[in-house]
Parts: sequence; C-alpha cells; structure tokens
Amino acid sequence: MSKKHVYSFAEGDGKNKHLLGGKGANLCEMTQIGLNVPPGFVITTEACLEYLDRKTLPAGLLEVVGNHIRLLEEKTGKRFGGEYNPLLVSVRSGSAMSMPGMMDTILNLGLNATTLPGLIKQTNNERFGYDAYRRFIQLFGKVALGVPDALFDEEFDEVKRQAGVKADVGLNAGHLKEVSERFLNVVHRHTGKPFPSDVFEQLEIAIKAVFNSWMGKRAIDYRREFHITPDMANGTAVNVVTMVFGNMGNDCATGVGFTRNPGTGENEMYGEYLVNAQGEDVVAGIRTPKPVQAMRQEMPELYRQLVELRDKLEAHYREVQDYEYTIEKGTLYCLQTRNGKMNAQAMVRSSVDMFSEGLISKNQALLRVKPEVLEQLLHPRLDPNHAHKPLAQGLPASPGAASGRCVFDADQAEILGRAGQKVILVREETKPEDIHGFFASQGILTSRGGKTSHAAVVARGMGKACVAGAEGIKVHTRARQATVGEVTLREGDVITIDGSTGDVYLGEIPTIDPTFSDELKTVLSWADDISHLQIMANADTPAAAQLALDYGAMGIGLCRTERMFNATDRLPIVVEMILAHTLEERQAALDKLLPIQREDFKEIFKIMAPRPVTVRLLDPPMHEFLPGEHQLEDELRALEQYRMMVRGRAAAFGALNVSCGSDNVSEEQVNAVIAKKEMMLRKVRELYEVNPMLGHRGVRLGMTYPEIYEMQIRGILEATAQCQKEGVPVAPEIMVPQVITSQELRIVKASVDKIQAEIENQYGLKLSFKFGSMVETVRACMRAQELAEVAEFFSFGTNDLTQATFSFSREDAENKFLPLYTDHGILKDNPFEVLDMNGVGALMQMTVERGRQTKNHLKVGICGEQGGHPESIRFCQKIGLNYVSCSAPRVPIARLAAAHAKLLEK
Ligand code: PEP
Ligand code: MG
Repeated sequence: MSKKHVYSFAEGDGKNKHLLGGKGANLCEMTQIGLNVPPGFVITTEACLEYLDRKTLPAGLLEVVGNHIRLLEEKTGKRFGGEYNPLLVSVRSGSAMSMPGMMDTILNLGLNATTLPGLIKQTNNERFGYDAYRRFIQLFGKVALGVPDALFDEEFDEVKRQAGVKADVGLNAGHLKEVSERFLNVVHRHTGKPFPSDVFEQLEIAIKAVFNSWMGKRAIDYRREFHITPDMANGTAVNVVTMVFGNMGNDCATGVGFTRNPGTGENEMYGEYLVNAQGEDVVAGIRTPKPVQAMRQEMPELYRQLVELRDKLEAHYREVQDYEYTIEKGTLYCLQTRNGKMNAQAMVRSSVDMFSEGLISKNQALLRVKPEVLEQLLHPRLDPNHAHKPLAQGLPASPGAASGRCVFDADQAEILGRAGQKVILVREETKPEDIHGFFASQGILTSRGGKTSHAAVVARGMGKACVAGAEGIKVHTRARQATVGEVTLREGDVITIDGSTGDVYLGEIPTIDPTFSDELKTVLSWADDISHLQIMANADTPAAAQLALDYGAMGIGLCRTERMFNATDRLPIVVEMILAHTLEERQAALDKLLPIQREDFKEIFKIMAPRPVTVRLLDPPMHEFLPGEHQLEDELRALEQYRMMVRGRAAAFGALNVSCGSDNVSEEQVNAVIAKKEMMLRKVRELYEVNPMLGHRGVRLGMTYPEIYEMQIRGILEATAQCQKEGVPVAPEIMVPQVITSQELRIVKASVDKIQAEIENQYGLKLSFKFGSMVETVRACMRAQELAEVAEFFSFGTNDLTQATFSFSREDAENKFLPLYTDHGILKDNPFEVLDMNGVGALMQMTVERGRQTKNHLKVGICGEQGGHPESIRFCQKIGLNYVSCSAPRVPIARLAAAHAKLLEK
C-alpha cells in the first residue's frame, strides 16, 4: 500500500502541521477536543509535493478522496452531486506556516444544474441558492480555470446597472440567476469549454488548483520575503470541509475573531461579524462588519457560545488564537483557528498577562515574543502636540505612524519605494496580489474593510501602519487620485496616517520616538535574568552612551574614538595633526586633542559606570579626515579665480590711486589659503591607497605614528584616574584594532604600561582597566594563542573579518553583486548582516578555542554589525562568547535574542 495521503478530521494528528498544514492540523485538533467543526478531511502536503513533482495526482488519491466524501455523506446525511439535500464543500489551502491569503480557496463546490434546485428547495431560498452558485462559478473560474476576475465583475456590474441597484444586497433571485448564467458564459467563452458540471471533476480540478497555488507567484514572493524555507513549510495541504452557510438568512452570520486584542494584547473579546454573509465578505472587506460586542445585543445566546468557544481555544492552545466561525441557522461552527499574528506591543502584553494568568510559564512567555518583532516598538508615533486636523478617519488597523506620498497601485508603490521614496499605498481595499506594494510602502490606507480585512492583517504582520475602512475617502484608482469631500489627493501628495487612532492627515506630521511599556520592561528583565550573553552597545559619544543605557545596554562593547574626531570643533585639530611636517608639529596638535578626548572618555565612563566601556584606538585610514581629492581640486580652481579678481581689483584701485579699504581680502590672505589647500591636496595624494580598507589603518597607524596612540591611551587612563579619584567605579578597556600579530600588541602594551606607571605615580593610585585586541583579520584568528598571551579580551570585528574571509570589499559588495548572490540562493544571507556561521563562524570558534588554551577565562565578544542579529546571537552563545555588542536601538532585540539563545540551547 502506498502512503496515506488523506486523513479525516477525526483521525489526523493535530500536531503534525508539516504534513497536514496549520489549518488542517487545527481542524483535526479542534474536532478531537470536541468543538463544533463541520466534518471534513485533509489531503496531505506530501500529496501536494508528489503532484507538483510528477504533474499528476498520486495514484489512487481520487479513489480515497471519493471514500472520504462518502463518509461525509454518511455524517451529514447529504449527497455530493445529489438532487435533494446536496453536500457542498469548501476546498481550502493550508501549509505548515500561515501565509494569509497567499494561496487559493474555493467555496460552494458541488453546485451544478442538478444540485442547485435541491439547495434552493432545501433552504426554501432561491436568492440564497443563486447567490451561492454565482459565487462558486466566479471563484472556481478564477482560481481553478484562470478566468480574470474583471470579466466576471463587468457582467455583475451590468446586471446591477440594469437592475438600478448599487449594492449586492439589492439584487433579487432573478438578478442573481442572470448573473450565474452570464458567469457560466464567461467561463465558456474564456476557456472554450463549458463549466464542469460533474461534481467529482470539480473536486479534482479544485484540488489540483490548490496544490498549484503553492508555486503561484504571490506564494513564492511571500515565502521569499518572510524567509520561509522548505524545512519550515513544504507544500500545501488541501482541506475539504462541509460547507456551512452564514448567508441563509438573519439567523445566520459569519465572523472572525482574536482571543485577545491583536493591536494592544488586551484580554477582551475582539473581532467582527456580518449577519447574513459568507466568510469571504468579512475578510475581503466588501461590507464593513460590526464589532463582535454588537452580537451581545443582536444574538445574545450565540454571543455566549462564542465567548465559550474563545475561552476553550485559548485554554487548549495556550496561545492567542485567530479564529473564524459561521453561524448557520442558529448553530455556531468553528471553521478555523491558528496562532494569532499580533504586533509586538500585543505580543509582549499578552505574554506578561498569560504568564500572570497561569496559562504559560515564564520561559514560554519569553519564547512567544520573537526578538525581531521588538523592532516594531521602536517605530515612531505622531507628536501628540501637533495641531493638525485629520482629513479623514478610518479604523486603527495596525499601529504606528507613517508619512509618504500617496500611490494608488502596488506596482507604482514598488517602483517608487525601490527608488527610495516614502509612499503610502492608498486602495479601496487590498488583495493578496498587492503584497509587493506592502513591502515597499511605509503604510497602507484603505477606504473599505475592517480591522481583520486583508490590508489590516498583512500590515500588522509586517509591523507597518495601516488605517482601514476610511469610508470618507473615495479612491479613484484609474484617475490616480482620491477625494475627501472637497479635497483631492493626487498621486505624489504627502499624507500621514496614524494606525493607532485611524486618523489620516494631509502633509507630513512630526513623529516622536516610542517609549518602553512596563510589560516590555518586564519581558526584558526576565530575559536578562536568563541570558548568559551580556548585551553591550556600540556607542561613540556621551549622548550615544546615554541612549544605549536607556535601551538597557550592559556596557559599551565598542567606542570608535575616531567618531569623536569628526565634530566640527575637533576636525581642524585632527587635520592639523595629519598635515604636520614634523613630530613636534604633530605633537602640538595632539596636545590640543588630549583634553578633548579625556573629557569625552570621562563623561562616557561616568554615564556607564560601573559597566565596562571598551575604547578602540584609532582605526580608519587618515585620508578619511581630509576632503576628497576632487573637492580640493575644485576649491583650488575657485580660489585661483578669486585671486585673479582680488588682484584685478587691487590693480584698478591702484590705477585710480584710491585705497580699497581695510575690510577687503588681500591677495596675501588668498595666497595663504591656497597654500594650505595645496598642502592638503599633496597630503591627500600622498595618503592615496588603492585599497584603503586593507591599507594604512588600525594598529598599523599606531606602529607608524605611536604618538597618536600614546595621546589616546593617555586620554583614557587620565580619565580613568580622575574618575577613580572621584570615587566613580569605572571599568574601561583599551582595544587595539586590525591586529595581525602579538608583536603589535606587545608594542602598544609597552606604551600602555609606561603611561600607566606615569599616571599612577602622578595620581597616587592603582588604575583598574583591561587591555585587549580586536580580532578582525584572518591571521589574528590563526595566532589567537599568541595574542591571548598579551590580550585580556578579544572582540570579533566581524565587519572586517567577513570582508577578509570572503575577500569581498565591505564598501562595494552590497551594492554590486551581493543582492544577486542572495536572490539566487548562492548565499543564504548577506554575510554583512547575518553572521556567516560556516565560514566566519568557523574561524571564530577556532579563535575562541585557541585563545582559551592560553587564557582559560579569556573574555570574548563580538562588535561587528552581526552582533545585533538574533540568529548570529544564537551562534555566539553556542561558541561560548561572553558578550555581543550592537547599535543602541537593537539592544532590546539582542537582550531577548540572548535569552532565546540560552533557552533554545541544545
Ligand atoms: C568590525 O570590523 O567589525 C568593526 C566593528 O570595526 P569597523 O566596522 O569600525 O571596522
Ligand atoms: Mg573593523
């Protein structure tokens, strides 16, 4: 017997999402825990993969499907293709990972000329029957037969026009019958064949269409964007489910809900429903639904049952659920449940709440919150003091504020977004095929649909601001404009949307940075209690140090001293130092820099006390502090002209024998400026290197200009001495960049020792600090044992180490060929973003082992950009690093990632 490809809901393993898809597994599980789920069965993802591979359904599959249909017939007392009491089914996609709206679903399958009268007789509702029929023909036609939606819409609009009605509900049975006939003709004309009437043929075509949708463009795009790999989800399952109808009358309804508020995380009934409607009406945003609270008055008994359903779902899954239900003639059915996608704020709040409610453990609460989602909490909010009046209001569908130029279709959003423009995608409603427009936009605004419409769900998942159902806005997509009363918004006009309030404004409104909620502080403090890795920040100035501290940094892992050189009051002194002809001249410039650096260090050490601050000695090539060659040449040309003018004017005044006044620039003054610029140009040419990043930088500068490093070391140690004198418990660390041999370290260390002795003598105290090395060259990795004889700590500079390991220029790779490498899967990730564990990581692991052979407890960290990336952090934990250091706003993400790394450690 070949593999089992079909499972009834009563027998499928609710935990096996890989095989049954998330939806299928949950339908099985819900059935098995006693919830009222319409009977059905799941065709596995394995069957899908076999079909996609061989282009034909697995042998015997249709026969087994037929047997399961017979079981459904027994359970429901209905007949598939039957003249009386016909069985209709939905055919739904569902993979192991939730991909909302990315694949296809067909409803009302099983309708044809024979079964339709049966359905009408059984429900005694002709309008309902034709409504179901026309929906089925359109959906089946579009999804399974590839007939464009627009062809159906034209016919539908024509019938509405002739009937003189605007909304679908205005159409009677006769109109819908005509719509159905027109739709059948559309299919015949477009496909050259009549619409399939055999219900088993319909089912076969539908199963194949759902399987094929796994390889549809939008599903592929979605998987690429969200890094869904085959080991996370491979193929889609097909769920064949008995249809239940929410549109048989006013004792019917359909709705979607979250077990908690997905915008805030609050523990409350949340969702929307529509009376007398089919599920797709809610999700597609065709009619604006009512909040679930309204059901309390409208259908009190069903509301009670719904609360019970929601409580059961959460108690069973111990996770916030996103569920769909239908009420058919007073009976509540649960159609689907899955883990709810929520924004970061809601995730954090519900984690803390669910822990206090005893639903989950602290570790589970931590693991629920994916570190990356915290990024959303770093999003800006509108300045609450702004005085702008909203232009329109919609539903607050996904929090955060965003400004940008209006664009009216996803393609244009993609083009402008890629060109670096900020855009807001403005649509009547969005559909899954608009997904590329979402990626490119700052925010989404729709004029129709609710908080669970496609636009709202997708934007929330992406952490983008969204205002949905702003009905005061009329969107005219073709004309590329929208109108709000008298105001016309044209493509390119700037608007601001506030996804937390639903307000829409004309123009750009200032935003303010977010603050941490108490719940986030709680989660992060739990994370810190569990983590093994320390989380440091890369910060170069006192202001940046303060910010890092606010984000919870446990120290500074990298203070790039050269960044202090760039301030406008310092740069001229640095230039003076570079242009110096003699050691004396250079020393004079360094003497001016010393107090400046010392004061900066003091301030940073004090802000961070008692936490460590790792100060890196000068690293970049000197030419970086001078203007570019072309700029200097241009300036010199302009100065030459200016000199001619000054000379000409002096000659003219001389000829007239008049004085040209004391406040005029003299030729001598211009000459002095020219001479300085010429000197700079000569220096720039002298310093020119073909590969400056591999040239005269890092500790090589310290070897050739020891006086520069001496000034910096003195600055650090004097600052330390002064802080210690004041009783501030500072913990500085001196770090040497670009090291390749222990000899370099020994030379710098000798100068540290000399200056240390002088300062200890001068201040009468023992200095407390560490001396260490960056590891960012391949040779440093290979010589780690020797480096560890001198260094008390290592810090991996994985920006340079990646450059060196790949032989990729870190300046050029990302703009030139790297996108192709990642797009084509030659490399899984950009190694400058995500640590290349197999290559760079292997070197790091070896370095740690070798270094610790010399010094058992050698402290080792990472300070390259990858240090803030959750996956990289897991690797750092695995190879035994002590800390990671990243940019300040990523510190909260890294704190949580470090806790995950510890909890998920094997
Ligand atoms: C590194 O190379 O990873 C590093 C932190 O130094 P920089 O980026 O300043 O070269
Ligand atoms: Mg570096």
